Amino acid sequence: MANVRTRFSPSPTGKLHIGGLRTALYNFLYARQQQGEFLLRIEDTDQARLVPGAVENIIQNLRWAGLAFDHEPVTQSERLPLYRRYAEQLLASGHAYRCTCTAERLESLRRDQEAKKLPMRYDGRCRGRTDTAPASGEPSVIRFSMPQVGTIACDDLIRGRILFNAATLDDQILMKTDGFPTYHLASVVDDHEMKITHVVRGEEWLPSMPKHILLYQALDWTPPAFAHLPLLLNPDRSKLSKRTGDVAVDEYREAGYLPDALLNFVALLGWNPGTEQEVFSLQELIEKFSFGRVNKSGAVFNREKLDWINGMYLRHLPTDQLVALAYPVLQTAGLLKPSTPRDFVQRVIALEQSRLKRLDELPPLVQYFFDDPVLDPAMLPWRSQTAADCKTVLMALTGLLEGLPDDRLTADGLQTAVKSMMEERKWGNGETLWPLRVALSGRRASPGPFEILPVLGKTTSVARLKRAANALS
Ligand code: GLU
Repeated sequence: MANVRTRFSPSPTGKLHIGGLRTALYNFLYARQQQGEFLLRIEDTDQARLVPGAVENIIQNLRWAGLAFDHEPVTQSERLPLYRRYAEQLLASGHAYRCTCTAERLESLRRDQEAKKLPMRYDGRCRGRTDTAPASGEPSVIRFSMPQVGTIACDDLIRGRILFNAATLDDQILMKTDGFPTYHLASVVDDHEMKITHVVRGEEWLPSMPKHILLYQALDWTPPAFAHLPLLLNPDRSKLSKRTGDVAVDEYREAGYLPDALLNFVALLGWNPGTEQEVFSLQELIEKFSFGRVNKSGAVFNREKLDWINGMYLRHLPTDQLVALAYPVLQTAGLLKPSTPRDFVQRVIALEQSRLKRLDELPPLVQYFFDDPVLDPAMLPWRSQTAADCKTVLMALTGLLEGLPDDRLTADGLQTAVKSMMEERKWGNGETLWPLRVALSGRRASPGPFEILPVLGKTTSVARLKRAANALS
C-alpha cells in the first residue's frame, strides 16, 4: 500500500475547537502508527467566513498539544489556478456546466420548494448548457452534473458501506462567481494532489461523501479511504456547541489542563481500546488506535472525566515541571512577589500536588501561604469546644512552637512534640489539630498542620497562632 498520508483541514472560521482537536488527533495517530505523514491544510475558500487570527490559533494549539504536522501547511486560497484548471476539465468532459441563474431566481426557487415541502435543490435549468467560457460580464458558477438516478455506494472505515440515492443529491456548485472553488471541489482536488490516502473527518461531512466519490470518478482518480467520526455530544445528548459549553481549545488550555491529559481525554471521545484502560500516553495511543474501535454513535463529552484524567497527569508530573507550569498561574493571580523564593513556591506546590485537578484551582488553594488568611474566629473551635478552651490550646501551641529548636521544625519533629503535649494535657486530636490548622490556613480544608507549618516557617506560624488566639478573646 502507498505510504499513508492523512490531513487535518480546518476552515479558519474561528478558534480551534475540541472537535477539531479530536479530528487532528485521530489523523495524527493513524499517520504516526503507519509511519506515514500528517498534513495540515487551511480551507479558506469561503472568504466571507474567514476570521482573522484563526489560522494562527489553530497552528498554535496543534503545537501546544504536540500534534506536529509534516511539511508546510497548504493554503487553498493560494492555489486558485489549480482548482480552475480542474473545473475547466470537468466542463470540457461534460461532467459540469456553467450556470447563470441569478440569486433572485434561486431564492424564489427555494421559497417555492419550501412552500411545497420539497427537498431544496437546484432544478437543473442550466444543466443542458455546453458553453465552457463565461459570457463577458455575466456572472456564472460551475455546477457538477449529478446523476439523476441510481445509488452511489460509499465505503467508510467506521460505518461500512453506505448507499446514497442519487435522486436526492443536488447539482453541487464547484466554482463560485468570485472565482473561488467551493469546499467540495477544493477538498477533492487537494486530497488527490496531496496524495492523501485516508480522509478522516467529522460526521457532518458524511452527506458530502457521495458527491466527492462522484467527483473522483469524473476526474478519473482513485478515491482515498474515508472515516467519518461520531458527533460530540453534551451529557444531555444535545450537540456540543459554543452555546452549551466550552468548545475552544484555548479555554481548556487557560483553565490549566495539560496537553497530554486533554489529548488522552479527546482520544476517548469516540474511540475505545476494548479494555478497561483509560490513561494513555501519546505513544500508547499511536500504537493502539484503530478505526475499527471508533464508535458510530455520538460521543458524550464528560467534563468530570476530563478533570479526573487531568488530576492523574498532574499527580504524576515531576514536581519541578508542575512548578514551572504553576509559576505563571500564581503570578497572574498576584500571589508572587519578586522576592518570593522559588524553593518556597516549590514546597507549597508539592503540598497540593496530590489533590490538584486543574492548575486554575491552585491560587485559591495556596493563597494562605503567600498572604495572611482572613480569619473567621467562629471557625477556630472544634465542634463543641468553647472559645476559651480553644484559646488555651492555641496559646499553649504558640509556646511550644517558640521553644522548638529549628532542627525539629519538620513534619515528624512537630508531630512528636505536639502529640506529647496532647498526651500530657489529655487533649484530643480534633480539639488540638483543628484549631491549629485553621489558625495557620484560615481554611476548612487544607493539608494537615504538620505539613503546612514547616513550609510557613516558625515566625509566620507563631504570628498566626497569636493572631488567632487574640481573635478569640
Ligand atoms: N474544512 C472542513 C472543516 O472545517 C474540513 C472537512 C474535511 O475534512 O474534508 O470542517
